[in-house]
Amino acid sequence: MRIRTICRMIIGFDDTDSKTAGMCTTYLGALMVEEIPLPADQVTPYLLRLNPNVRFKTRGNAAVSLRFELGRKETDEMWRICCDLLEEFAVFDDENTNPGIVFLSEEQASGLRGELEAFSLRAVRDFITIDETKKFLKKHNIKHRGYKNGRGLIGALAAASFAFNGLIDWTYEFIAYRKPENWEEKRSLDEETVWTADTASYPRTWDTVDHQNNQIVFSPHGPDPVLFGIRGSDQSAIKDAFTIVRSEPIDRYLMYTTNQGTDMHITKTNIADAKEGRSYKIGGRVTAPPHTIRGGHVIFTIEDGSERVDCAAYEPTKNFRDLIRRLAVGDLVTVYGAFMDRTVNLEKIRIDSLRPRMVVRNPRCGCGKRMKSAGKNQGYRCKKCRTKSDLPEIVETDPGITVGVYETPPVARRHLAKPLIRCNSEKKNIYPSR
Ligand code: ATP
Repeated sequence: MRIRTICRMIIGFDDTDSKTAGMCTTYLGALMVEEIPLPADQVTPYLLRLNPNVRFKTRGNAAVSLRFELGRKETDEMWRICCDLLEEFAVFDDENTNPGIVFLSEEQASGLRGELEAFSLRAVRDFITIDETKKFLKKHNIKHRGYKNGRGLIGALAAASFAFNGLIDWTYEFIAYRKPENWEEKRSLDEETVWTADTASYPRTWDTVDHQNNQIVFSPHGPDPVLFGIRGSDQSAIKDAFTIVRSEPIDRYLMYTTNQGTDMHITKTNIADAKEGRSYKIGGRVTAPPHTIRGGHVIFTIEDGSERVDCAAYEPTKNFRDLIRRLAVGDLVTVYGAFMDRTVNLEKIRIDSLRPRMVVRNPRCGCGKRMKSAGKNQGYRCKKCRTKSDLPEIVETDPGITVGVYETPPVARRHLAKPLIRCNSEKKNIYPSR
């Protein structure tokens, strides 16, 4: 009897697409999955979002990996097929496209669990150089191919590492792809069915539409192969939603397991220790009130005892800015978002306490009428009764907001940001944007 050695295999790849010429690394994932000689439920495709502040990204800093088990000989064949597909589909002409592909066997990776975990978390929260990635791959004899400058190896190894170690928190995205002959055409979707699909599956799916801004947000606009992506926590709800949507013909589709919607990019810090291009959770006291600058962006300042920092609700965050405008000096808040150009780009905010809002008014006379000013520093006088008062009336007003956690709307949501609808519904004071 011949014994067939089974090999657990992970393929990770990244940086295959271009802003202008289309393509999408997830599409390549779908093509590769079809080549694996296994039933679909024996392959786990992962879509990983890495540090959203990396300047080389095309769109959402995505990397992809596939995990499956094959006979040892077949793994060599699969590696060849995957490299061929990448070479056929990656947009090599784009100067910013530098593909990378990595083959991690579980056997080999098991001795590197901790190092792989540290690498993948750094890829989401920090910056990694091409050089250190190449050195790591070489040192541990990990099979890989880097094309052009090989930058894609960073995402490829991070994606493979996540597939090896698994995700502590995860969601799903079901991506439907367009027929290649339609890639240049305007996307055709029956919008009413999209709203119906959302109503039927929310909150087990999210970010399909944005109710407050009356917009469909699950479909991109560029020349890439993605028709739409349905995000959610429950695969069957996602599939049900998919059956409701009517659209142009769909070429293929794939359900990805993903770190989207998990806040994996956020770590806690104080202001003095914050570093450019990382994403943080920072608690502080409002020291300068919100003001609107050119372009409709709303800015306020907080301090936490270590330093001060500006926080911004940019124009694309739409109605979220109305909430931010209601903050006042003295309020205690915790802000969540990317630290860019020494400003926190708000993704979420927790209002921890509100300082009482006091307004100063002319006092009321015993006759019921409000007194008038009697002149500068001369107090107030009732015109009718001639009664005088030196003191104004100070009253507390409604701040128009309450303590709790708030988020930007779906139209402005970053892939990694955890939607509040995913936060325990038992918890009080959580206000999902819908
Ligand atoms: P799409 O979302 O359309 O797939 P993208 O936004 O993922 O495109 P890429 O074309 O993959 O963008 O470019 C991102 C590049 O940045 C990749 O080469 C990836 O390896 C690299 N990269 C990812 N995370 C980091 C990081 N933390 N530090 C340094 N480089 C990174």
